[in-house]
Amino acid sequence: MADEPETERNTEVTMDEIVALAKRRGFVFPSSEIYGGIGSTYDYGHYGVLLKNNVKNEWWKAMLTDRDDIVALDSAIMQHPKVWEASGHLAGFTDPLVQCLGKCKKRWREDHLREAVEAEGGDPEAELRCPECGGELSPPRNFNLMFETHMGPVAEEGNVVYLRPETAQGIFINFKNVLNFARKTPPFGIAQIGKSFRNEITPGNFIFRTREFEQMEMEFFVPPDEAGTWYREWIDLRRDWYLDLGIRPDFLMVRPHGADELSHYSTGTSDIEYLFPIGWSELEGVANRGNFDLTQHQEHSHEKLEYFDQKTGERYLPHVIEPAAGADRAALAFLVDAYEVEEIEGRERTVLRLHPRLAPVKVSVLPLVSKEGMPEKAREIMQSFRKAGIQAEYDAGGSIGKRYRRQDEIGTPWGITVDHQTMEDDTVTLRDRDSLEQVRVPAEGLPGQIAARLATGWKSPKLG
Ligand code: ATP
Repeated sequence: MADEPETERNTEVTMDEIVALAKRRGFVFPSSEIYGGIGSTYDYGHYGVLLKNNVKNEWWKAMLTDRDDIVALDSAIMQHPKVWEASGHLAGFTDPLVQCLGKCKKRWREDHLREAVEAEGGDPEAELRCPECGGELSPPRNFNLMFETHMGPVAEEGNVVYLRPETAQGIFINFKNVLNFARKTPPFGIAQIGKSFRNEITPGNFIFRTREFEQMEMEFFVPPDEAGTWYREWIDLRRDWYLDLGIRPDFLMVRPHGADELSHYSTGTSDIEYLFPIGWSELEGVANRGNFDLTQHQEHSHEKLEYFDQKTGERYLPHVIEPAAGADRAALAFLVDAYEVEEIEGRERTVLRLHPRLAPVKVSVLPLVSKEGMPEKAREIMQSFRKAGIQAEYDAGGSIGKRYRRQDEIGTPWGITVDHQTMEDDTVTLRDRDSLEQVRVPAEGLPGQIAARLATGWKSPKLG
């Protein structure tokens, strides 16, 4: 088969296009849609689950497989209420809520409104008006973002619990358990992926900000005098993680927080930001938290949380470097970065140029026609991928062009077509999603070939 022709690329993408593709192709659906939806809540469909799992697996790989100084944890969502007293979330995990007193009655985050004014070159200290209807705004009220519920059958005082607003505290309260079993010496880390819940005042922008989301957090415990070095190291490591997975460098930046933005306990925080269609926004935060958290939990629980260094005879509370990422936000960034519409011979093709390791399906197996033994042969090849543990998809529905387009839209990097020649000489065509090149290769040994390609590096063709 001849190569498909040279293409014209258009790299502009809007959030609406991503939302539409995500729904059309079964990545992400608005939740409870048959009941009219429930604000800013989403369900992941088949390809969304595969994509997000790949994102999380890459994170685990970077934390656990590629190094030996981090251990895993999966702590409970509901924890003792004192955890949130100690961490400061009960008193201080608030956002300043302002409400429109004019026509629309909409609620806003005051800090976001001031940031928007500043970004437009205005005075952030000036009086704010409702961005929707221009109405007067109420004075700011601190609104706690934690979801509250009750443990046990009766809702009464004394059994209030909170859904965790971050996974990090589950790590701190297990510090002693991990020290006892893992026999680790600082510097070492504890990593966790799990759901967090925040009653955000202004959720929105698809899965960028939701009230229920998954975090990927790691607390790296270090001797106090090594905190600065590790802080810089983790900023670099985390930035490189996104770049290695194909994010274009021009769309990623590290933004150190100014002194006025820092939490009271933090001596340094840097956001890794991505240029989303809504503008530069936080993808992940890397913070130097000092020994704030362990100090607080030691005080509130009356348990000693110090590390005893047998070599030096010294006891100390390790300092903590925390890279805190969101699995949903990362999945969104990968989707946005991968999305491309191009024209081929006057026809539009939408393609997700996802890193092959992130692609939900690695290879599609397509019988050219549903006769002459081709479906059976294709299924046999499909089976060989299954045995090799490579996510493959058999697709026999519709014209071959339609099937290619479907696979392009879900980002499948390779397509195998079983055709008439296959039935004669056991060769197939192997189509490359990015170059559109098609080569004839023996059917035998395909899983090994694809595995080898998955193991090698990949560079976004958008980089030229
Ligand atoms: P933001 O300023 O956007 O509210 P944050 O600074 O409060 O975020 P962190 O507490 O540092 O966020 O959480 C770490 C990561 O968790 C964020 O970088 C983001 O990827 C993810 N995250 C936080 N809140 C949400 C949310 N409401 N929806 C989706 N992901 C979130």
